Amino acid sequence: MGKAVRLRKIEKVAIANRGEVAVRIIHACRDLGLETVLLHSEADVDTLAFRMADERVLIGPAESAKSYLDIEKNILAAVGSGADAIHPGFGFLSENADFAEACEKKHLIFIGPSPESIRLFGDKVSAKQLVKRAGGPVIPGYEGDDQSEERLLAEIEKMGPPVIVKAAGGGGGRGMRVVRSMPEALESIRSARREAKSAFGSEKVFLEKYLDHAKHIEFQIFGDSSGRIFNLFERECSVQRRHQKIIEEAPAAKLDPTVRRRMAKVAVEIAETAKYSGAGTIEFLYQDGEFYFMEMNTRLQVEHPVTELVLGVDLVKAQILTAQGQGLLWAQNELAPRGHAIECRVYAEDPFRGGVPSTGTIQYLHFEPGPGRRYECGLEVGDKVSSHYDPMIAKVIVWDESRPRALRKMVETLRECVIFGVRTNIPYLIKILQNTEFVEGKMSTQFIDTYFKNGLVDVETSNDIRELAKRLESANALGELAPSGGAGVSGGRAAEKSPWLISKS
Ligand code: ADP
Repeated sequence: MGKAVRLRKIEKVAIANRGEVAVRIIHACRDLGLETVLLHSEADVDTLAFRMADERVLIGPAESAKSYLDIEKNILAAVGSGADAIHPGFGFLSENADFAEACEKKHLIFIGPSPESIRLFGDKVSAKQLVKRAGGPVIPGYEGDDQSEERLLAEIEKMGPPVIVKAAGGGGGRGMRVVRSMPEALESIRSARREAKSAFGSEKVFLEKYLDHAKHIEFQIFGDSSGRIFNLFERECSVQRRHQKIIEEAPAAKLDPTVRRRMAKVAVEIAETAKYSGAGTIEFLYQDGEFYFMEMNTRLQVEHPVTELVLGVDLVKAQILTAQGQGLLWAQNELAPRGHAIECRVYAEDPFRGGVPSTGTIQYLHFEPGPGRRYECGLEVGDKVSSHYDPMIAKVIVWDESRPRALRKMVETLRECVIFGVRTNIPYLIKILQNTEFVEGKMSTQFIDTYFKNGLVDVETSNDIRELAKRLESANALGELAPSGGAGVSGGRAAEKSPWLISKS
């Protein structure tokens, strides 16, 4: 059912974000002939997005709370720069209903859904209740107002562990604790609450039966400016560490077509019930032939490129056009996934030391181009990877005609990535891609805990080689080597085969 469409002209877009997503948004704006203003922190002066944007406004110090998360500073800067719209990217203020509302008040177009939708789905409890009322499948649990420890403990006992305690306002894998036995229940409730309070400002938690061999399958939906909801099919994101995604793919590795159709129908109905506008993702857990609604994210997802590659769409442009009140180029019956796409999140961390973050200056960076390869990166040589923000530094995405071909291409592509200056999880990603369970598409969200809980084991490194590596690193620190000799070297065939290049410092 269509609604009256109001065209609102956008000429200049302010970007309230940083890193690779800021770069992604700038590309979409350039394609549409729009100007860009980057609202950035002190730590992001002279990064790739900073250099690419038409204008930049400094909004505060490195600390996110005083820059990227500060509603007033972002709005003031956007208005001051003459922007007519704000794209929030993902993370930071992207799912903050107050921010979307504040934008509207200042006549800035918020490129995203309405504040009401953000509020409704931002509270996982109200989202679950909406889905339950609409007859959708939800994970059994307790979402009551009685938040006393006694009541929560009694409910856990009634359900029987394993149970997951989740923050109502949670996100990014935080504010969640799995209770595997009654004696640990109280501490799990308390620690989930503590984390929820400090990260989301609310202690409210709810309980769900913990599904211990489920797949994470999510549906991309999109509400256009006339109110029509498009089904952009699913992605599978079962490879997760501490409830955070590492590898995503589209379509799901193994999904019965009937179940796929049923899931898509529920996803579209949820979006229709909420009169949703823009890009949204409905997340499900799928176990033993049944699927359950988990939550809806009211923003662009990190893993949106895999959907773009199998469908041949541009979700960021679609978001901007919808915010302007323009129609899209799609027809639902022409949207059919073709081939297979995989995304790997590249983190600045040391996979041989349990994934500890790695910081430094990028001294050399090479992403080998090739058919069906796409890179999303917010860094160039000379840029710094600091400890202020998320350690994800790039996304490597590939497309090929089938899943086995895409898998092979991804391993090849990762082997050809070279990053000097920080260590990365590239060797870890390659090992995951070669794991039999993953290759067969049978992985559940327990995959990492089962096979890669402690990262990778360092290869046998002789003392001589360690000594040589140490000498090279200190020579480099003193500036005695050419800039391409990094303190941390990652990826590349050399990195995989030669132990000293990736050995511990
Ligand atoms: P966030 O918003 O923090 O990303 P989600 O609710 O999307 O949190 O859950 C993230 C991940 O946590 C899921 O993909 C899944 O692996 C795990 N999870 C959440 N709820 C359950 C559950 N009831 N049973 C099993 N795993 C769960």
